[in-house]
Amino acid sequence: MRLNGKVAIITGGASGIGLATVKKFLDEGAKVVVADINRANAEKVVADLDAAGFKGSSSAFAVDVSVFTEVEALVAHAVEVFGKLDVIFNNAGIAGGKPLLDHDPAVDYEPMIRIDQDGVYYGILAAGRQFRDQGTGGVIISTSSIYGEQAAELAFTYSAAKAAVISFTRSAAYELAEYGIRAVAITPGRVGTAIINQFSDELKETFASEQLRGVMTQPEEIANVVAFLASDESNVINGTVVHVDDGYSVFKKRLDLPTF
Ligand code: NAD
Repeated sequence: MRLNGKVAIITGGASGIGLATVKKFLDEGAKVVVADINRANAEKVVADLDAAGFKGSSSAFAVDVSVFTEVEALVAHAVEVFGKLDVIFNNAGIAGGKPLLDHDPAVDYEPMIRIDQDGVYYGILAAGRQFRDQGTGGVIISTSSIYGEQAAELAFTYSAAKAAVISFTRSAAYELAEYGIRAVAITPGRVGTAIINQFSDELKETFASEQLRGVMTQPEEIANVVAFLASDESNVINGTVVHVDDGYSVFKKRLDLPTF
């Protein structure tokens, strides 16, 4: 029960990493706002959790994280329902992309920047103000990606947005430390969610082989780390990137070279 008494917002909470984290947070004693652009899915998550014995511990909220006023309303909702806010997990995001020179900026750049980059900024700003006004401090965890630290195929816009998430995290930790607020970014590698499951089995095997265990990471494994980062056990982790990529960022895929 490492999160006993804490109130958290989890964006993208209706699916994948966000959903696994909602469940983990409830197991650890937190109250959670399941925030997602997909209202029906968010409401179903809460109904399922109520039926599973967590009645009253979660609340659904429909939000488009790319609209600041909606993110402000999300924070207000958490305070209205659960009385305060302790943690925000800025996790909602979209993936995908085209080769750079085929881009139409209005389609292949602007919408993704609005969600994956601006959405995190809005979450930091709105939750940061709430933490300051409460006088309690708080924790801001944001989902970047392995692609936030390197160039990759079809990821021009995605990499830029995810790099910004890392920069926002450093600056937020620096600026908000005086209010007792911590900020941490995570960089998942290949996680078995809707983003990855759209690919063929063959490609999924290739993705898995890019990680040291050679298997797809499960959303629950990311959620375990996020729960630790949200808890007081990680008080000295601040302003940094926690790589949750099963080694992806520290090795190059084996080529079976001859001895030389
Ligand atoms: P997912 O598609 O299962 O979940 C994403 C959720 O975000 C969905 O429920 C979706 O409805 C919601 N969402 C999308 N746009 C939104 C918006 N504008 N406002 C509010 N909610 C919105 O995918 P996932 O893999 O769980 O992705 C979660 C995060 O992890 C994303 O930021 C993604 O970029 C990042 N990530 C995923 C992987 C991976 O391999 N799956 C790797 C690195 C980073």
